[in-house]
Amino acid sequence: MSQALQAVRGMNDILPDQTPRWQWLETRLHAWLAAFGYQEIRTPIVEQAALFSRAIGEVTDIVEKEMYTFTDALNGEQLALRPEGTAACVRAIIEHSLLYQGPRRLWYQGAMFRHERPQKGRYRQFHQLGIEAMGFADAELDAEHLVMAADLWQRLGLSDLTLEINTLGDSTARARHRSKLIAYFTAHESALDEDARRRLHSNPLRILDSKNPAMQAIVEAAPKLMDEIDDIAIAHFETVQRILRAHDIAFTINPRLVRGLDYYNHTVFEWVSHQLGAQGTVCAGGRYDGLMAQMGGKPAPACGFAIGLERLLLLCEIQAIDMKTPPTDVYIVHQGEAAQHHVWQIARQLRQAGISTLLHCGGGNFKAQMKKADASGARFAVIIGDNEIAAQQITLKSLRLDLPQQAYCAADAIQHILTFRSSQP
Ligand code: ATP
Ligand code: MG
Repeated sequence: MSQALQAVRGMNDILPDQTPRWQWLETRLHAWLAAFGYQEIRTPIVEQAALFSRAIGEVTDIVEKEMYTFTDALNGEQLALRPEGTAACVRAIIEHSLLYQGPRRLWYQGAMFRHERPQKGRYRQFHQLGIEAMGFADAELDAEHLVMAADLWQRLGLSDLTLEINTLGDSTARARHRSKLIAYFTAHESALDEDARRRLHSNPLRILDSKNPAMQAIVEAAPKLMDEIDDIAIAHFETVQRILRAHDIAFTINPRLVRGLDYYNHTVFEWVSHQLGAQGTVCAGGRYDGLMAQMGGKPAPACGFAIGLERLLLLCEIQAIDMKTPPTDVYIVHQGEAAQHHVWQIARQLRQAGISTLLHCGGGNFKAQMKKADASGARFAVIIGDNEIAAQQITLKSLRLDLPQQAYCAADAIQHILTFRSSQP
């Protein structure tokens, strides 16, 4: 016998006992996005590899180490499985001139791919939900995204997510800071690790992100971006803070928060939970006013964030959020030739009335079928045998409550089930 194949490491099946949680979450996400007037955009999973190196930056973890790239065997194109959603959103906006008629509030959801070391909360295929608002320059939009996130945690019943924010200023401040950083780290080059040395000239801001304990002192004492930031950027940041305060959204300012990607300016933020250990960031994002032009489009301001859905679900589980979805309403148990003839018709009637219905398949006596009905998790068994056919009735038995079974005509049975269902939490 040949060896059975397995899923790729770090890429998980989501099995039927898990999908109800995803559906529970997705239903709430969709209602939340609709409440804020965001529109969905769906882009392909595969893009030109150059899209990501151009948008995210050559010298970033994602592009350097984590991206699944491959050559299209048929035409030699360099392609990549998307590692994130923003670059493709921007590409699509430019390609289809979506900002022509004014600004857009968009969202996307889907699988992303990064070749990382798999561990709890970190996978090679994972799912993000992201929002992007394109064409809005005002700080109100940065704040809207934070208010939106806070609203989502509330809708889901989550607590203990803390918000860290920072400002990266505008591009001139970043450029000034960048040259000061290069001068500073060059003066301390012997104290830098290999990663930092490599980034010294290409992406010195990322050195501030270093988790290497041996470098913490030198990072702490590095020139601060805050010292370069002009009054306009400070006013932008203060507006965001004012709106957060007005909404009673607690936050801390973390001057070391720079985010992993090159494209951010002004506000950046992360929502973190201490309950998730090292993989504690559930939602991250910020403003990226330069990206549209960097990607060859007409300049347009933008901001957005992405939520890691696996981490969000993990947090819901840890906080014991009730994520149950409604059970199937009916399992039809049937016996006899006449019944077999009618059950399809009855199942159809039930389904048309909005009652979810499982039709027993595979024969067996009543007792065996009732066991299956019970195991299915359905609310009711509908029983149809020769007696029922003769009386033109169906027998209804509650599978969850200890009630006597009772025969009804189909219309009454439907009414009974619907009434019962609407009385359930
Ligand atoms: P981290 O610091 O955890 O590597 P990141 O900065 O690489 O995160 P982003 O690119 O900002 O993450 O992605 C947004 C969110 O997507 C993260 O906050 C996280 O919740 C989720 N995420 C990122 N990478 C993974 C992964 N490999 N597995 C599961 N979720 C992920
Ligand atoms: Mg990462």
